[in-house]
Amino acid sequence: MTAAETRAILRAITDGQRPARAHIQALADATDIDGLMRAAAELRDRGHGQIISYSRKVFIPLTQLCRDVCHYCTFAHPPRRGERAFLAPEQVLAIARAGAAAGCKEALFTLGDKPELRYAIAK
Ligand code: SF4
Repeated sequence: MTAAETRAILRAITDGQRPARAHIQALADATDIDGLMRAAAELRDRGHGQIISYSRKVFIPLTQLCRDVCHYCTFAHPPRRGERAFLAPEQVLAIARAGAAAGCKEALFTLGDKPELRYAIAK
């Protein structure tokens, strides 16, 4: 796709046209990153202005066992001798209460991917 074609598609989108599937697929190969970013910023600003939203939440790791071994992961680890594989209910409540005291409005329960497929203790 040429730069002119990319600009034409982006102009149509920022003018309010719903992009065709072929145009969306073509943009995935576009090399005009600055143009894509300008169009995305324009749409974002038009839709949301200067508002930045966020959600205060506390993460509660019910277990850190996971069947996967993603090498970038700093969360998962195998079962450790002398250490519980799952949080006890009172630990969950303590983390939730600490989150509430810190102003959190949500609790996000986290765990690894299907740990029961790898570890007997998780079955
Ligand atoms: S917790 Fe997520 S990132 Fe970490 S090893 Fe499991 S799947 Fe991968």
